[in-house]
Amino acid sequence: MELEDINTIAVLGAGNMGHGIAEVAAMSGYDVNLRDIKDEFVQDGYDSIEWSLQKLAENDQLTDEEADAALERVSPLVDMEAAVADADFVIEAVPEQMEIKKDVYGELEEYAPDRAIFATNTSSLSITELANVTERPERFCGMHFFNPPVRMQLVEVISGAESAEETLELAESLAEDMGKSPVRVHKDSPGFIVNRILVPLMNEACWLVSNDESTIAEVDSTTKYDLGLPMGSFELGDQVGNDVSYHVLEYMNEVLGEAYEPAPLLEEKVENEELGKKTGKGFYDYEDGEGAQVPTDQQSEFVKERLLATMANEAAKLIGGDVAPPESIDDAVQLGAGFPDGPVKLVDDYGLATLQETLEEAYEETGHERYAPADYLAERAEEGGFYESDSDSAAVDFESIRIERPGNMVGHIVLDRPHRMNTISDGLLEELAVAIEQLEDDDQVRAILITGEGEKAFSAGADVQSMAGSGTDPIEAQELSKLGQSTFGKLEDCDAPVVAGIDGFCLGGGMELATCADLRIASERSEFGQPELDLGLLPGWGGTQRLKHIIGEGRAKEIILTAERYDTETMADYGFVNEVVDKDDLIDRALETATELAGGPPIAQKFAKRAMLAGRNDTEAGLEYESSAFGHLVATDDLMEGITAFMGDEEPEFEGE
Ligand code: NAD
Repeated sequence: MELEDINTIAVLGAGNMGHGIAEVAAMSGYDVNLRDIKDEFVQDGYDSIEWSLQKLAENDQLTDEEADAALERVSPLVDMEAAVADADFVIEAVPEQMEIKKDVYGELEEYAPDRAIFATNTSSLSITELANVTERPERFCGMHFFNPPVRMQLVEVISGAESAEETLELAESLAEDMGKSPVRVHKDSPGFIVNRILVPLMNEACWLVSNDESTIAEVDSTTKYDLGLPMGSFELGDQVGNDVSYHVLEYMNEVLGEAYEPAPLLEEKVENEELGKKTGKGFYDYEDGEGAQVPTDQQSEFVKERLLATMANEAAKLIGGDVAPPESIDDAVQLGAGFPDGPVKLVDDYGLATLQETLEEAYEETGHERYAPADYLAERAEEGGFYESDSDSAAVDFESIRIERPGNMVGHIVLDRPHRMNTISDGLLEELAVAIEQLEDDDQVRAILITGEGEKAFSAGADVQSMAGSGTDPIEAQELSKLGQSTFGKLEDCDAPVVAGIDGFCLGGGMELATCADLRIASERSEFGQPELDLGLLPGWGGTQRLKHIIGEGRAKEIILTAERYDTETMADYGFVNEVVDKDDLIDRALETATELAGGPPIAQKFAKRAMLAGRNDTEAGLEYESSAFGHLVATDDLMEGITAFMGDEEPEFEGE
């Protein structure tokens, strides 16, 4: 089955998650059969969808017509046969109890067509065990949406023991079509990715307090203001619900062993029915007290190391056990839990060897299995981190570009094909990707400058000749487009500020590259344009998407659809060029700007850039990112430095700490 073959989606369970998933599916144009066991339950779900669509329309995230059309696509049903008989895809979101779910799958198998794919939204049960109730374990997988599905980007797509690759790919395509970001979980392992990182972290927080090694205030202050996570560990626990964390741990304990024994403090909270926000009381008191009040100044290095060590150990088990690679773990936890940096990157940056020692010492002291370092942790600690180091790429001899280090913490990439007007070949793209990564990893680089060699061009576009190799093969052309999009995207995603110094032609792919810089300084004689439509093509390296964020959609359409050339002054009027200079001053001025930016506060720059990028298509997500980054920044040394310098009317010297 292909994505195009999916027309009707049945969602089983109209509760919290079911109604949200149904809403998202209906908004993406699918016919949705929403099923629950009683009229009133399914009606409640339907009413919640109606309410939520109305809210989205009020906030201009949908038009009224779109909201009405989405609601019209939802059919509330109680009869199982009617709900699933014509379903192409079934997403199950009934209560988290094995027996209930097994009953549902038994009944579902009876009425659903053979072609239909089944996906369970379970948070913790075994996908494989559920799949085995059906006669189609190869057409069965996990599709773990996060709460609330309308707002949360992440969907973990989980492989059961027998899930077919096509099933998983289809579930991923469907998630993408619903505007979500799927992350593959290669094995049906308890907690999948996000809960596998968060729940043991939460448990370790509880152990620290249970064993009198720390306090709730200290742990949360450290989690929120030192690690920079969006909430304190206990604050998060109260939000998730202590019963939920407890059950996930019990399940992990059963399947994965003693390391996941719930801490006494958590057990006690569950026994006393202090389940968190939903019961008015958990680790904090939300009824009679003031809720989660996390102090900014009780951070502890000891607590930080323990929490990071716990994350490092879980990451090692996930990566070493082939459940997910580092990139997927980081993506999933950033999307699903709002971490500003992924956990793998966090522990790599802190130093795996130190964290391994932390675990070994704690293991020796307590003998508790949760501190037993995973074998894979030791292996990667020796290599310097979970992410592969760039030692291979460091050896690359660049041919199409070169890197210069003019000092003052600026890394300068020069496009170095002056005889071909610095046109972009696939070789140049590959080298550029490596160069950006090298500069990003270099502690001595705090701003990037990119310019073109020679008198004629910054870059005159794609090197059509070198690309003739791809001929007219649509698949190869698509791949090439993706390669350019992602390579330039690396520049856009860079934590350090990026300045493009433009002299001469800045056309096509060259302009798309310059679009990914943060600031553009251009000589007055330069020429800009996206001439692709004149060739019967379209800008394929991000131009149709990124340009509009700099100059607005109206101007972007003008430039792309007319395929005209524009002079620097006009591009400055349009807001594309930040500063116009004489050609003889270009390099000096661009370098000066990069140097100024390199002297700025690196952490604040990184967060500001990320918040702006995160909010491009989702202002709420951007705002959320902004406030959590703001919380993180108040605890940095850079802030102190900035304020002290400001008061003393001096130049600050930021350390990035
Ligand atoms: P919920 O209790 O809000 O909703 C479950 C619904 O399923 C109820 O309306 C119930 O009447 C209905 N139901 C019971 N038996 C049924 C049957 N035989 N057929 C159809 N409907 C039936 O629960 P929820 O929070 O929406 O969770 C549903 C699933 O999603 C669980 O597996 C849960 O683990 C998972 N999940 C929950 C969250 C969350 O934050 N709540 C997040 C991710 C995944």
